[in-house]
Amino acid sequence: MIYADNAATTQLNKTAFEAMTPWLIDEYGNASQPYSFSRKSKKALIEARAIIAECINAQPEEIIFTSGGTESDNWAIKGSAFADSNKRATITSAFEHHAVLHSCAVIERLGYPVTYLMPAVTGIITPESLSNKICDSTRLVSIMLANNEIGTIQPIKELCEVAHSYGALFHTDAVQAVGHIKIDVRELGVDMLSASAHKFNGPKGVGFLYIRKGTEIAPYIDGGAQENSRRAGTENVASIVGMAVALKENCDCLDDHLTSIYMLEHQLLSMLSDAHISYIRNGGDKTLPGLISLSFAGADGEAILHRMDLAGICISTGSACNSESTEISHVLKAIGLDEKHAKGTIRISLGKNNTADDVDAIVATLIKILK
Ligand code: PLP
Repeated sequence: MIYADNAATTQLNKTAFEAMTPWLIDEYGNASQPYSFSRKSKKALIEARAIIAECINAQPEEIIFTSGGTESDNWAIKGSAFADSNKRATITSAFEHHAVLHSCAVIERLGYPVTYLMPAVTGIITPESLSNKICDSTRLVSIMLANNEIGTIQPIKELCEVAHSYGALFHTDAVQAVGHIKIDVRELGVDMLSASAHKFNGPKGVGFLYIRKGTEIAPYIDGGAQENSRRAGTENVASIVGMAVALKENCDCLDDHLTSIYMLEHQLLSMLSDAHISYIRNGGDKTLPGLISLSFAGADGEAILHRMDLAGICISTGSACNSESTEISHVLKAIGLDEKHAKGTIRISLGKNNTADDVDAIVATLIKILK
């Protein structure tokens, strides 16, 4: 099997797995209990929080553990709307992940206005487009750091400056970016940032929301006093420890991984060009390393996916479909890709475990299918 769908999920780092196991069997104490058996769990949470904070240049108390990217996004959107404020409007983009879009739909139904910015054909939300829509009643601007289908990296720092000049908060869904490119929350200036461990070789079902000190946001999950009374629920110590170890390992090796992934990306695109396969690479110049969205005019992305699967290769498409209809993805629609190309779109997402031999096999199979 060749796995080239790392934007969907990644393989757990061995070091993360090994760091997790003691907390599943032997050290199972509830971190909230005062006795000495639980003290180790509590200490593990403190250490994990500090490691994660350092990886993104935050303060430890600004990291709140969640169940993953979906929860972090829900919290940022709904928690901002429900915070006590005269400002009620939210601005987001039309090509966010559904965790953001569907959360926005909920607050809209509750009477909070939401504006959806359209990206340029390059897949970029420009600061000018935000300036045109933002106003004094804007409470939150939420724009993803990197798009999960086409990989485009957004000008977050500049967008953030526009938001702040109107007194609005800025949230970014950085689920695809954390652990893959350098992230410095101070340099970006964001107020909130969502991340998910399984996208950076950590375990599934755990993530975090960075909340800058002083940011007003209503709790999203109510109950006990965990996470400084901001997010209730007994902490998943093993997964949190695994997340911290995975993130640190990826951040420590980032430069080496980037060099090898860019080489694989170059190899893949050159092999396609050498075979005279014509394609569009979606997302312009500034995309996440290894995330390659390709559109082949007149081809059928779903059929390519299934034939690649038969050859033992995991990739994904740019469009979701069911047995009756093939719907073009909202991301490809938002960047204005025509139907002929949109239906023939696939996403190959290479990760740190992929090799040059994997790329040879992926491209050889793809060429055979396309021809
Ligand atoms: N945001 C983006 C950009 C994603 O790609 C994903 C997952 O695909 C999510 C949010 C949801 O994250 P999780 O799977 O941790 O709920």
